[in-house]
Amino acid sequence: MTTMKVAVLGLGIMGSGMARQLLAAGFEVSVWNRSADKAGPLADAGARVGSTPGDAAKGADVVVAMLADDTVSRAVWTGEDGAFAAMAEGAIAIDSSTLTGGWVTELAELAEARGIRCLEAPVTGSRDQAAQGALRFLVGGDGEVLAAARPVFEAMGSAAVHLGPVGSGATVKLANNFLCGVQAASLAEAVALFEKRGLDVEQAMSILTDGAPASPLLKAVSRRMLDRAYDPHFLVPLMAKDLGYAGQALTEVGIVSAIAAAARQRFVEADEAGHGTQDIASIVEPLRAG
Ligand code: NAP
Repeated sequence: MTTMKVAVLGLGIMGSGMARQLLAAGFEVSVWNRSADKAGPLADAGARVGSTPGDAAKGADVVVAMLADDTVSRAVWTGEDGAFAAMAEGAIAIDSSTLTGGWVTELAELAEARGIRCLEAPVTGSRDQAAQGALRFLVGGDGEVLAAARPVFEAMGSAAVHLGPVGSGATVKLANNFLCGVQAASLAEAVALFEKRGLDVEQAMSILTDGAPASPLLKAVSRRMLDRAYDPHFLVPLMAKDLGYAGQALTEVGIVSAIAAAARQRFVEADEAGHGTQDIASIVEPLRAG
């Protein structure tokens, strides 16, 4: 039984599973979420619920954030009631949200100015891996800080891979989701093509899922598209955000990615068509309707 105190800020699809794993591992856990209702089940499981990010972060050895995007991350760490204002010198800030390299670099500088140690640690894996403590953390930052935080990563994931300085994790995570987003977008177009041509879609899809294009994403998301099962593993607007951030990262090194932009458009269209609270598999629906 460890006595390390850990705060989790952001109890969405991913953060709630991560907080549960920390409780199960015996950490003393505090939590905060903008919509307070999501903290209820974790309070029942033994977490202290903070009224603000700072309130939750107060007294924590490690604070983990799992939030929507750069703007939310900035507000939750650096806002008036934010975590940094409440954290002790030497405490560790970990942001596991999918963010831009530019923001995580600034975040680490702001932390350092306060004597707070900081890691970026975006994740691969989705809702089910978060719930099972099987995420893979893509860590950027100081190796000694990673070593100090390792028990926390071990409770939430199956691996914490040190990729280099802060920003390295964002680069690899955005490339990861660039490839996932492009696959999901092209998959949606293929499914709609099969349906519009009147093919036996299960049979046609089996050629793809048993063949060269098969990937874990293609297999999982195609099943959800065919079943019209859109309870969220990964929300449509978050993939639009990630493809936007990936396009930005590519532009920064002189690569203007028409591929990232075109794939992002499929997610933007689905969001605008009312699928914003659904799983990424629902991006096939506007194509079915069109
Ligand atoms: P989610 O369920 O939508 O959770 C988003 C979190 O951000 C919630 O806690 C939400 O609070 C909070 N938030 C949003 N806007 C806010 C605001 N203006 N002020 C304060 N809090 C705000 O999404 P998720 O799937 O857990 O994703 C969290 C992060 O992990 C994202 O960066 C995502 O890209 C990344 N990620 C997701 C997956 C996946 O498969 N789901 C996999 C890897 C990485 P409310 O509850 O109040 O809305």
